[in-house]
Amino acid sequence: MLSYCLDCAANDQSCCEGKQIYITLGDVQRIREFGIKEEFHTFEPLGEDYLTGGGDPGWNPLILNEDGNRRILAVKADGNCMFLSDKGCTLPGNVRPLLCRIYPYDFTGPSITGMCQGCPISKQENWLDILNSSQMNLETAKAWVEQLYDEIYQERAAAGIIEHTQCRQHADNPASVNL
Ligand code: SF4
Ligand code: SF4
Repeated sequence: MLSYCLDCAANDQSCCEGKQIYITLGDVQRIREFGIKEEFHTFEPLGEDYLTGGGDPGWNPLILNEDGNRRILAVKADGNCMFLSDKGCTLPGNVRPLLCRIYPYDFTGPSITGMCQGCPISKQENWLDILNSSQMNLETAKAWVEQLYDEIYQERAAAGIIEHTQCRQHADNPASVNL
């Protein structure tokens, strides 16, 4: 873990506190295979902080169902994810939802575009070097962004919400970096 993350933990902060985390069907499957038996997700409309889709106009239409809800991690009474403990996330890294793994990178479509300003590392000029020296390196994040969009497109195509040709178009245009 980076010293910045340790500082966050020491201050009782976590990047995902109070956040609504969208999860893919792949995320659901990985968490179930890990052995979580209780319900861990719910379907809800966009909260106020999520109406802009993080600045990506294509994001919300891609994740919202016809009823206006999208699949998110369930939260406890304190508003935090049910997997968040006072020692951080209780899911192993390779089981965590893709959006959790991708943070603190920003992305638009399948392109990584920068870094979320809410993370203190973003205040460092050499933020990319810092991330590249950790398990949150750019190449790994790119692969996760690609997997995220693959899983979303496949689910939408299977539900008949988008055409299978869009999946193929996506496969021909994998995630990129546009920093
Ligand atoms: S990724 Fe950023 S916001 Fe999250 S714990 Fe680490 S330093 Fe804090
Ligand atoms: S799964 Fe882990 S990283 Fe993701 S929101 Fe929950 S506690 Fe945070």
